[in-house]
Formats: sequence, C-alpha cells, structure tokens
Amino acid sequence: MTTSTSHDTLQKFIFDNAAVRGEFVEISDTWREIQSRHAYPPAVKTVLGEMVAAAALLSANLKFNGAIIMQIHGDGPVRLHDDRCDSELRLRATAKLAEGAQIADDASLTALLNASGKGRFVITLDPLDKMPGQQPYQGIVPLDGESMATVIENYMLRSEQLDTRLWLGADDQVSRGLLLQKLPRHSGQDDQSKQSSEAEDLETWNRAVMLASTLKQPELLGTDIQTLMNRLFWEETIRVFDPAHPRFHCSCTREKVGNMLKILGRAEVESALEDLGHLGINCDFCGKHYEFDRVDCAQLFASDTPVETLIAASGVKH
Ligand SMILES: [Zn+2]
Repeated sequence: MTTSTSHDTLQKFIFDNAAVRGEFVEISDTWREIQSRHAYPPAVKTVLGEMVAAAALLSANLKFNGAIIMQIHGDGPVRLHDDRCDSELRLRATAKLAEGAQIADDASLTALLNASGKGRFVITLDPLDKMPGQQPYQGIVPLDGESMATVIENYMLRSEQLDTRLWLGADDQVSRGLLLQKLPRHSGQDDQSKQSSEAEDLETWNRAVMLASTLKQPELLGTDIQTLMNRLFWEETIRVFDPAHPRFHCSCTREKVGNMLKILGRAEVESALEDLGHLGINCDFCGKHYEFDRVDCAQLFASDTPVETLIAASGVKH
C-alpha cells in the first residue's frame, strides 16, 4: 500500500501483562521534505519537528479512518497551523512566521508561541467518512506547558483522561519521539483481580516512565529507535507489532484553494486581480502552484455555482 520510498518508521509495543503501551517514531525522509520548501530558524524547526512526531504518535491510535489536525494559535512570532496526520500516517506540516520576526536560536516554545500567555492548542479529529451533518470534533485548550511534549500530555489528561508521557526531539535530519500511555482496565473482572491488575499496571507504568526519563535529547536525536528500545527496555518483556511507515502527503486541491479565495472575499480578490491580472497561489505545505485568472475568479463568485463544477470547468479550459 505504501508507494513512497520512505524509511520512516512507527513502532508500537505493549508491556506484557500490563495495560501500558508505547510507540517509537522516527521521521527523517518526510521531515526533510516538510522543511525543504522553507528556511525555518533552528528554534522553529525544533518545535515543528516535535509536533510532527507527536501528530504521528497520536494518529497511530486513531479509532476511526480520518485525520488528526494540530494547530497552535500563538501570540508570539510563530504560528503552527493545520499540521495533519491521518490514520495511514500520511502527514504534512508548516509553520508561519510573523513578518520580520527575529528568532533566537534557543528561543523557547513560550517565546515562540505564547509570548503573552494567550496561546491556544487546537486539536481536531476529522473522520473521513462523516455521517450527514457530523462535524469534526475539535478541542481547544490553553497552551499549557513549556515544551510540545508537556502541552500534549496535559491535553491528553484533560480531554481523554489518559496518562500519557512523551519524549520528543527534532533537528535538521530527524524528528523522533517516544510515547507511553497507561490504559484504563475494562470492567468485567471481579473487584479483587481488577485491583491487583491495576496495581501491576501502575508498577509497570512507573517503571517504564522512569526508564524513559533517562533519555536525554542528544541520545534521542542520535540513536535509531531499535537501539533506543533495546537500551531502555531490555529488562522488560514487551510485545512489538509490525512497524508502520509515516510518509509525506498533502491534501490540497484546486477546490480547497478556490474555497479559500471565496472566504477571503470578492473585494479582496478583485483588488488583487486589479494589481496582478491573475492570482498565483503556492500551497504552503507541498509547494504546488495554483493559478486563478479573471474568468476563474468570476466563476468562483458566481452565485450558487458549486465549487466542484468550477474545478471541472477550469480543468477543461486549460
Ligand atoms: Zn499542498
């Protein structure tokens, strides 16, 4: 099913006899592709790369066919928007920098995204096959934490009531992460065996978190996930699943770009046409170029014309 040559890997595992699961992810080909169309300052690379790893880690446990979309609406110089990973681990990401922003190499997440404490983390769960009238689920929480890992841990605890820990790192070459999660025990066991299972889960959870907490950034960035897994959990009995392979994919279409122009509004579009004669729009994620001339734009704003019809029409024209 995978058509790209990506070597990127997501490896799920569970601890034997305990409701504790984990995932390692290593994204290099896809991560380099995401960076290839932008010159991000180092601090932005780190935050964006960590978000990419986190999106892949969370998407791997989606219980529906669809996508996770993460956005950070900050009040600092940087905005991370529409970073998306679907249940097939196809992902895309981009960061927007305020014009003229000076960003220190070691700028913290707070300095980049939450300068006056008004930053928001928005996570959207978007099923592909929605029921009629079904809206995507969207959770919006304050940007609560000094690192991407903490922001997501806090979100998971608040919204999903799941104990989750993440270790994330990214540089030019790789975005790598580890997730541990303690799952709830289902009912159906008698009280006593449930209690003893829960005690065992807690013990395994504490031990796993302690082992993973020995992982420092240079080791996380410089070591492949197989070695990391052996090094951290060699004394544990863990069951490893078949690896999955994240890869780059952009879901942009001419229709979506057209919708964006419609949202921008007729006055804005007409004034740009006045200046330029036509509109050329590059997708921020994949770099694909879309052209809209006067006729295209007129059709776009013609009342009651479904956007799909416009796409078909413009396809014939060119
Ligand atoms: Zn695109």
